[in-house]
Order: sequence, then structure tokens, then C-alpha cells
Amino acid sequence: MVKKIKQYSGYYGCDKCTQKGRWVSGRVTYPKVDNLILRSDETHCAEMIRREQNESIPVSPFLRLPMDMIAQFPIDYMHQACLGVMRKLITEWIRGDRKARMSAVQIKEVTQRLLSLRKAIPSCFPRKPRGLEDIDRWKATELRQFAVYTGKIVLKIILSDQLYDHFMAFSVALSLLLSPSLAVNHNKYSTDLMTYFVAKTKDLYGEQFMVYNIHSMIHLPAEAIHFGSLDACSAFPFENFLGKIKRLVRSGKQPLVQVAKRLMEISVSPQTQSVVAAKCKLSRPNNGFILGEGKCCEAIQERVESDESGSPVVLCKVFEKCEPLFMDPCDSRIIGCFKVQSRQCRVKLVPEQQLTRPAILLEKNQEIVFLSILHNI
Ligand SMILES: [Zn+2]
Repeated sequence: MVKKIKQYSGYYGCDKCTQKGRWVSGRVTYPKVDNLILRSDETHCAEMIRREQNESIPVSPFLRLPMDMIAQFPIDYMHQACLGVMRKLITEWIRGDRKARMSAVQIKEVTQRLLSLRKAIPSCFPRKPRGLEDIDRWKATELRQFAVYTGKIVLKIILSDQLYDHFMAFSVALSLLLSPSLAVNHNKYSTDLMTYFVAKTKDLYGEQFMVYNIHSMIHLPAEAIHFGSLDACSAFPFENFLGKIKRLVRSGKQPLVQVAKRLMEISVSPQTQSVVAAKCKLSRPNNGFILGEGKCCEAIQERVESDESGSPVVLCKVFEKCEPLFMDPCDSRIIGCFKVQSRQCRVKLVPEQQLTRPAILLEKNQEIVFLSILHNI
């Protein structure tokens, strides 16, 4: 609306490329995945000015500002990948066409697996996993948790190999694009994965599935490289802060005044911050970390202590023999997914400054899985 362009449901609805949509089963679809002609600020502005002159359609007021009308309007992965693609896939698996649908027993099994992970989800996640029966009420952050972390675990052996591999292409590509270093170092690979994901969607779920939402995944790697990572250009900070604002309202009377007063109190009270930090002990589920050189560790001491030289240290079980959790579509160690034998560890003091990459730690029988937490908002 603010750019004064066609909406996503129009025939030229993609704001990043010029592909013409195809009308399939009552919706506009974008089946093409390669040789896309990308829009640029120059071609966009020229077209808008031509439209104003020939068709008297006024240009967007943003056009007059010194900004890039294509690059500075990023695709938001919170809406497109989490609330869009991820919810669409899950809905298809539980209620869709028979060829992709899970059985009632399988749905129950996935729900049980999700619920069993609740105790392992670190407190930096605002929500714990819920069952699939609540899918219509899942928030964006729960869908991200599924897309990037838990989905890989709970869908294994439940979805057919084809559907699982297809989901994994999406999950791994998204994981790469969340980390600022991986988004740059593996940008070409994530583009290949997303392109494969979109192309394969047509074979697995049908042409009517190829709406703008799915198509936009092809453009996500370019957003990550332009802004540094997907978290640098998403709606998550706004959505998260909305939640915080809501919790500040105590009664129905003058809610805005209440919010303004509470925010003022927080801003002048340094204590609030330190109390929150002190709550987060290095105990389950907040004690898994990825160390450098492919090592992981589990903190076994709740607080940071000092060693003889006065440096802050934490007693940890360090796992040096870390296997990949999976090898398809790539070695999972690239995105920080490791598998270790719980007995094969060395207990030692780890400098606190090395504990910068928190991970989800899942323990089952003799095995521990570490999933590096890649999002930062
Ligand atoms: Zn496009």
C-alpha cells in the first residue's frame, strides 16, 4: 500500500521480481524458480513515474525520498516463512490432501514428541512447544521454533522421506540465514536450498500451493545478505515488544496511560534488568553451549565462579567427539546440530567468555543432541 504497487495476490504481485503469476484453482501462483528478472530501484521508479504520467496514478510519497524502493522494503521472514510457509506445511500435513496428510496416530505421536521437548526448551524462548491440535493458535515464535529447531526432531520417521527431505531443505536454509556469519558464508548454498524447496513444492503439494508466500522464499537469501541476517530485517522485535506492552496493562481503564507509566518506571529502574539476569541460572534447560572447533558443553555448575587467577569460569562436561545429527541436505555441524554420547565427555573448567553460543540440549538414552540457537531476537 505505501509503495502503491500491486498486492501479492496480483498477477505481478512479487515486489522483488517481475514474474507474471498464473491463475490456478482460484488463486495467483508463481511456478517459475529460475531465470527470474529481479526488480531494481531504477526500473521500479521509472515504471512508477511512467504510470503517473500516462495513467495519472500518483506515485508513492516514499519515491521522493533518497531510499531504495526495492532493497529497503525487505521480505519479513516472520510473516512469510513462519506464519506463512511453516503454518501452511503443518496445516497440509494434518488436514490437507491425502498424499501429504499424516494419520491420526502420527499426529498424536508428533504432539507427544513436541510436549516431551517442553522441559528442554531454554528460557530465551518465549514459549514452550504445544501440540498440533493448537496449530491455529500457534504464534510466530512457536512456528519459528518448529521450523528451525524442533521440527527436525519430531517429524523424523513420521513424514515420508520425500516430505521430510523437502522440509529439511527449508529448515536448513532458514537456519543458515538467521546466523549473521552463516548467512554470508553460505548464501549461495541457502539460495540453492530455497530454490530446490520452492521447485519441489510443486511436485509434492501441487501447483495451487505455489502462491506468492512460497515463492518469496527464493528471495530471502538476498535479504539476509543485504541486512546482515534475517533477524536484522524482521517484524519479530515489534511482535515481541507488543507482547511485553500487553503484559504491562493491569486493568481495562486507560491502557495507554498505564503502559506509558510502566515503561517510564522500567527506564528509571536499573534493578529490573539485574533481577532478570540473576534468575537465569546455568541449570537445565539453560546449560547447553556450542564451543569453538566443533565442541559442545553442558554446564554442571549453576553459577559462574572465579579460578585461581580470578577469571570467571564454569565447571562443564565438555564433549569433544561431536558427530553430525544429520548429513542431508548437508553436514548438520554447519548449523550447529551435534550428536554426542553422554558418557564421552571430560569435566573441566571453561572460561565464561567461551559460553556465548547457547544451545538446546536434548538427552535421550545414552545420547545428547545439541541444537545451536541461531536466532537472536
Ligand atoms: Zn519474486
